[in-house]
Amino acid sequence: MIVGGYAVLRLDAVRHNLAKVRACAPAAKVMAVIKANAYGHGLLRIAKALTDVDAFAVARVNEGIYLREAGCTQPITVLEGFSSANELDAILRYQLATVVHCVEQLAILQQMPEQAQLSVWLKMDTGMNRLGFKASTFSDVYQALQQCAIVKQPVGLMTHLASADDINDDFTVRQIRLFNEVTSGYAAPRSIANSAGLMVWPEALADWVRPGVMLYGISPFPDRAGQSLGLQPVMSLHSHLIAVKPIEKGETLGYGGSWHCEENTLVGVVAIGYGDGYPRHAKVGTPVLVNGQRAPLIGRVSMDMITVDLTSQPHAKPGDPVMLWGNELPVEEIANCADTIPYTLVCGITQRVQFIDV
Ligand SMILES: *Cc1c(COP(=O)(O)O)cnc(C)c1O
Repeated sequence: MIVGGYAVLRLDAVRHNLAKVRACAPAAKVMAVIKANAYGHGLLRIAKALTDVDAFAVARVNEGIYLREAGCTQPITVLEGFSSANELDAILRYQLATVVHCVEQLAILQQMPEQAQLSVWLKMDTGMNRLGFKASTFSDVYQALQQCAIVKQPVGLMTHLASADDINDDFTVRQIRLFNEVTSGYAAPRSIANSAGLMVWPEALADWVRPGVMLYGISPFPDRAGQSLGLQPVMSLHSHLIAVKPIEKGETLGYGGSWHCEENTLVGVVAIGYGDGYPRHAKVGTPVLVNGQRAPLIGRVSMDMITVDLTSQPHAKPGDPVMLWGNELPVEEIANCADTIPYTLVCGITQRVQFIDV
């Protein structure tokens, strides 16, 4: 038996979710986004489960190097690109593709004499105001990249949507329109959509889609769970009860004594805490599955433990199984209870949590 938190990873669910991507974007190529250790699911595990995607995307050069050294041969795009000539060297050595989003990167490329070795995605800032060239300078940079010896042609053209998860926000329409206007004359592959974009904005499909969160079975929309969108959660998080004890009316529970016992209560102590990545800010009442039944969190989340109200399960005992999120308890619901988004929960799983592939 595993003592403490463990995560179960369903690799068939990853492939199911990829099929969902393909169903939404049948004509597009798929660049699977596996940055941040594949959203906490394990970079290599997920890369191996996704052998038939057209490319991978990571955020950082070191993530790309890690994949190459593990034997990954697919195209890999580094979404933040390089920030020095040294990093560009590494990109070339490991045959990674780079995003170019700023003038400093362009200046480095212009000094490289080698011929046509580097695959580039040129990024336009259509309103996110994070990375990318403004529409007003985009065409000049595109022309400049045509003149760079080292850059393979054609250069890909991309942008990133800021509000695609809100189907009522026409900001997305304006971003797509601007991108299409500026790039209309160019014979080059285009990419716009993240998970939310490819699910609800058909005009964003373009030549390549860049799904991240949906591959893990998680909804990009704040008010929906992945399962209601036909996705299957990949990760479930589990632990066990390690103590069960009654506390009396009038007592308090846990750090700060912040939870006051209003009725005699049976408390279950679960071996999971923020040291495992369970959210510190999960509110009192956050559901936890004990023996498959919902029990509410009570008291504060501590590093190694949480406490739950087991009054409805008088026969619960140490060793009984607990699920913190998974198929029957959507991670989206837990994220809402902790005032965060599910992305942060799965990304935040820590090293001591054991991973089990099924
Ligand atoms: C993270 C990221 C994605 C994937 O976003 P999801 O919301 O997880 O689908 C796509 N494109 C870029 C540029 C990103 O940074």
